[in-house]
Amino acid sequence: MEELGPSAITAYMPSNAPVPEGEIIIERGSSAQDVGPKLNRTAGDVVRFLFGQGEMVMATQSLSDDAIELFAVEVGAIIRLVDPGLEREAELSAKYFGDEDDDAEEDLRPRPPIITVMGHVDHGKTLLLDRIREANVVSGEAGGITQHIGAYQAVKEGRLITFIDTPGHEAFTAMRARGAEVTDIVILMVAADDGVMPQTEEAIDHARAAEVPIVVALNKIDRENANPDRVMQQLSEHGLMPEAWGGDTIVVPISALQNTGIDELLEQLLLVADVQLSDELVANPEGRCRGVVLEANLDTGRGPVATVIVENGTLRVGDTLVAGAAWGRVRALIDDKGDNVKEALPSTPVEVLGLNDVPAAGDEFRVADDKAAKALAEHREQRHRFAGLASTAAATGGGAKLEDIFEQIQRGETATLNVILKADVHGSLEAVTASLQKLERDEVKLGFVRRAVGGITESDIQLAATSGATIIGFNVRPDRKARELAENLGVELRLYEIIYKLLEDLEAAMVGMLKPEYEEVITGEAEVRMVFSTPRGKVAGCYVQSGVITRNSKVRYLREGVVIWKGALPSLRRVKDDVREVQAGFECGMMLSDFQDIKEGDVIETYEEREIARV
Ligand code: GDP
Repeated sequence: MEELGPSAITAYMPSNAPVPEGEIIIERGSSAQDVGPKLNRTAGDVVRFLFGQGEMVMATQSLSDDAIELFAVEVGAIIRLVDPGLEREAELSAKYFGDEDDDAEEDLRPRPPIITVMGHVDHGKTLLLDRIREANVVSGEAGGITQHIGAYQAVKEGRLITFIDTPGHEAFTAMRARGAEVTDIVILMVAADDGVMPQTEEAIDHARAAEVPIVVALNKIDRENANPDRVMQQLSEHGLMPEAWGGDTIVVPISALQNTGIDELLEQLLLVADVQLSDELVANPEGRCRGVVLEANLDTGRGPVATVIVENGTLRVGDTLVAGAAWGRVRALIDDKGDNVKEALPSTPVEVLGLNDVPAAGDEFRVADDKAAKALAEHREQRHRFAGLASTAAATGGGAKLEDIFEQIQRGETATLNVILKADVHGSLEAVTASLQKLERDEVKLGFVRRAVGGITESDIQLAATSGATIIGFNVRPDRKARELAENLGVELRLYEIIYKLLEDLEAAMVGMLKPEYEEVITGEAEVRMVFSTPRGKVAGCYVQSGVITRNSKVRYLREGVVIWKGALPSLRRVKDDVREVQAGFECGMMLSDFQDIKEGDVIETYEEREIARV
């Protein structure tokens, strides 16, 4: 009753009352009661304003991002929306680090480009990275052995180029999913004897999604069966028209094995850096120091060791830095040659010793005073502890949902439905694409982030999370890891086997008339107490803990809380008899349709799908 009471909402502030200066941090999903006072207004002001915009809200009701932003604009406040739980942290960051881009133009200096090598397995990524390192990195004092610290710098024409030493797009995407965009240019490795393969396509999609320029290294041209023309043809089909054919994609033929073409490749990287990226490849060496953690681990002798890349400023021994939930005074900096160094300039990778804990790859680091670093690290540590690590991932990612599209359309906005489409064969991929494109209308556009043949992989999920896409699978399934990741990152997976059903759903979403939603209702839960082997397969001897287990129901099989299998329950027995159902408190034997990996202590959950009425 208190919430509904009129007292809180009838007070108003004059519309010209001042608003707090600077950026005000507001959590997503805040209510009028939270937002008003932060902007020197009352809840009533917010409610009245939104009412004027045609939106009826209660003072305690959670507001949409748009509503909060509209109100901020109305009163002339500058706000930043942050995910729930991150408000305090953002406030601490703001307090200690203040304005981000306070580097004056004249202080900016060129910095080396940072390169990631991606491409299909066995196309020569590792060998190329090794070759560049051998040729261009002067061996360190430690007996000429170079150190693998996760990244290194090579010298070409007196200029530095930084290479991330973990090839492949998994690390690249994992970092991006955490908000870290370190790579400036991608080298796409394609073996001339093998051509564009599934992971090549994935790499192209990931580089595109990150809007990073691609330079193609056409490798293994020494091979007898090398067919550069065929590869160039394939590249053009993927939107990478080679320069030689009148396009703008640089393709450099190389042989990592015979060490040919690599100089040319480095030259081309510098060219792209100069021509396409001259505005971006700058930093202020004297500015506030910040960067990104590339990798980190706990070393038995040295404690937590993190390899970081400096993005701005100069990192020095003795600085205090905070990286994720770790902080500490930099005790030593070790470069890619294994040498101790005093400082690291922008785009330089170094190992940092002296942190109190191991940060995560993709964490941002900043140099701060002890007090700030400690406060921020401790706050994060606490948040991680409370929220579990999954929620940090969820907060950064999250694909678009068909339902969200529906809402956007209802609000009269133009919506783009980002889609990752995976299908079983090329024919169906093309067919589904063409049909989907026909559904496009003025107010709803379709964006294909990725279209490919094959099962739904973790890499698809990562890409969906970073690009806000829904995944549509036609005659394909996600593997378990992908499914789990999708759940963790809040990515929507829609799987179809019938094309008209797929089109029907998408059309429904796009015209704002989604079909009834279903919710799952758990009907019974049983614990596996014993496993029996029978000629027909494994039988789970269970104890029904709650609800009722019914034969033929849908089943989820959980191990330590993780769904490891879903399917049906064709056989249910009490003692020796087939039964239709077993109540809580009784024992029973269950056989799962095609699942054999049964272990004691696992939990079998049965569920039903019930339609939820739309309001
Ligand atoms: P990655 O999986 O992409 O990292 O590939 P690797 O660097 O491990 O290389 C895979 C295999 O291809 C290795 O046996 C390499 O020796 C070989 N390889 C790499 N580059 C070349 C090349 O230019 N020519 C030939 N003939 N073989 C190469």
